[in-house]
Amino acid sequence: MELSTPLQYIKGVGPKMAKRLSRLELNAVEDLLHHYPFRYEDYSKIRSIAEARVEETVTFQGELWSIKNTYTKSGKVMTTAILNDETGSMEIIWFNQRWLTMTLKTGDRLQVSGKVDRFKGKICLLSPVWEKVEIHEPLHTGRLVPIYPETYGVTSKWLRAKMAKVLPEILPKITDPLPEDTRGEMLTLQEALQQIHFPDSWDKFNLAKERLSFDELFFIQLASQKQKLLWQKKQSTKPLLYKDSDLLCFMKSLPFELTLAQQKVIGEICSDLQREQPMNRLLQGEVGSGKTVVAAAAIYLTCLNNCRVTLMAPTEILAFQHFETLSKMLSPHNIKVGIYTGSKKRVSDEPVLVGTHALLSEKLPLQNMGLVIVDEQQRFGVKQRGLFRAQSASPHFLTMTATPIPRTVALTLYGDLDLSVIDELPKNRKIVKTYFVPAAKRNDAYKFIEKHVKAGEQVYLITPLIEESETLKTTKAAKVEFERLKTKIFLNSRLGLLHGKLKPKEKEKAINDFKNHKIDILVSTSVVEVGVDVPNATIMVIEGAENFGLAQLHQLRGRVGRGDIQSYALLFAEVETPQVISRLKKLEKIYDGLKLAELDLKIRGGGDLYGTRQSGRWDLKIASLSDIDLIEKTKKAAEKILSDNLELDKYRALLAQLESQAKEIMPD
Ligand code: ADP
Ligand code: MG
Repeated sequence: MELSTPLQYIKGVGPKMAKRLSRLELNAVEDLLHHYPFRYEDYSKIRSIAEARVEETVTFQGELWSIKNTYTKSGKVMTTAILNDETGSMEIIWFNQRWLTMTLKTGDRLQVSGKVDRFKGKICLLSPVWEKVEIHEPLHTGRLVPIYPETYGVTSKWLRAKMAKVLPEILPKITDPLPEDTRGEMLTLQEALQQIHFPDSWDKFNLAKERLSFDELFFIQLASQKQKLLWQKKQSTKPLLYKDSDLLCFMKSLPFELTLAQQKVIGEICSDLQREQPMNRLLQGEVGSGKTVVAAAAIYLTCLNNCRVTLMAPTEILAFQHFETLSKMLSPHNIKVGIYTGSKKRVSDEPVLVGTHALLSEKLPLQNMGLVIVDEQQRFGVKQRGLFRAQSASPHFLTMTATPIPRTVALTLYGDLDLSVIDELPKNRKIVKTYFVPAAKRNDAYKFIEKHVKAGEQVYLITPLIEESETLKTTKAAKVEFERLKTKIFLNSRLGLLHGKLKPKEKEKAINDFKNHKIDILVSTSVVEVGVDVPNATIMVIEGAENFGLAQLHQLRGRVGRGDIQSYALLFAEVETPQVISRLKKLEKIYDGLKLAELDLKIRGGGDLYGTRQSGRWDLKIASLSDIDLIEKTKKAAEKILSDNLELDKYRALLAQLESQAKEIMPD
């Protein structure tokens, strides 16, 4: 058995079980090893029967004196047994487990764990977990018992048994990748893995968690710091030179005055552009904070130096919007912009090319490429960025995102990038008044919407995300909701439908119809970028809001409130628990995207942020992104090792681990 052995070939697994396991993304022995329990049942208190206290969760050991099935009045099978130890005897009752009398026999020595209870006035154990006292260590009773994420046909009980077989065989074959010095007082990797699955005590569990969390964050840090240092060492580019008067000339040509924040980040970017070392910067700013004009300033300076620019957007819709905006801003300076997407190719001799992934599948003319801009980082992989880096003179890189990333998270996950933040919205912006709408007020909300539509305003209505991504189910739900609204609710309004499964042409039509006010209410799934600027849209309705992170909801509501008219966001929940309501009501009071992202981090933990399942970068198994101390500690540890040996050739085990994880940390 090796770490890479497919689970199918492990004794007692086979193809059918392997298929089920793959639903939990468990494919090889190594995956199983890192399938951590999400909680433990504490059955570690072992008591004599005489010590039994009602309500206490305990384990007893004893001999089975009797066991029999009886039937309750309602016809249920009730199995009653008597367990005896030296101090006394205890009644045990199970329901609907008729087969127990075949497995358990009088005279068997048993260990049972559960909560001491009363049944018809008598003290007893109701439906305890049991196992026969045999030679092997107990797995399901008498200890901290691991409870795993499960799936159909894969129970925690099954996983426990498998884990107990696999661990002793595989752990001796593992080398701890951490150098002694880095590991310090922490458990070895072998100990940590053993203890995370079968902790001897809560203390041991904490130590195991500490070590495994350390590794998780440490390897992310190591990968991104290494990348950054290599990037700084090796790459060089043509510095892009300009005079302050050039920049002023561009700013003067704009129809508005830049905010201080915009000026600050333009300063940061432009000073990077003058260097020989290529820029590698992440520009973060909320929806509507005005990132495009910042990009335009950088493009302008690049073109002054007779270099070319590529801007990549995640969707056709956004690419087209950038194309239009940039053309407007740059044409007064005689800079021509081209567009290149799957369905639109208008390229001749433009120094600026805007497009989608389609750009990458072409042989881009890379000579003289001075600047590459990527809008919405998380949808672009490192490999794609690498395409540009492979050229002899690397271009400068600017990545833009509207995702509010708490600083700690940015430090961890984007450690290879420098960070610029636009932390201020243009002055005239009004906040989007936000309300959580309880089900009882749904009809009032519809009337409110109708009134505003009558007044000539427009509405986005986001349908629930049924599954994690835009699956058929999600699309279907959107269609059903669209039909319902059209035929039952908004009889006098013009409705349009937008979802991810539409053809690009159909998507564009829906968007354009909305833009040109041929549609009053645009019903859309959340997955589709409706990042278009429609100043006349004043209401954002979000169904199933509880399925989103607060930061994500904040981004969605940022789609309205672009014009002068007061705008609103109305949030509906499908399930109205007190937690859901209190979480959603935060949006009524907090209008700072970064604060909301930090709240998300506190409430839901990092793994769940921003519906980031799309990006493996964010998927942490055990560490928490809110653990700032650990983030700092792992960052220092990674820096220390790299400053000693950037190539990591002195640390073979570390390098091997890094390379095997690189794919997961920075997916394609
Ligand atoms: P982002 O890409 O950050 O979401 P955009 O660049 O699309 O935001 O800008 C949103 C809107 O704000 C656009 O209509 C843009 O023209 C406008 N805008 C940008 N900067 C300013 C500013 N300093 N003052 C007024 N309006 C601005
Ligand atoms: Mg934008």
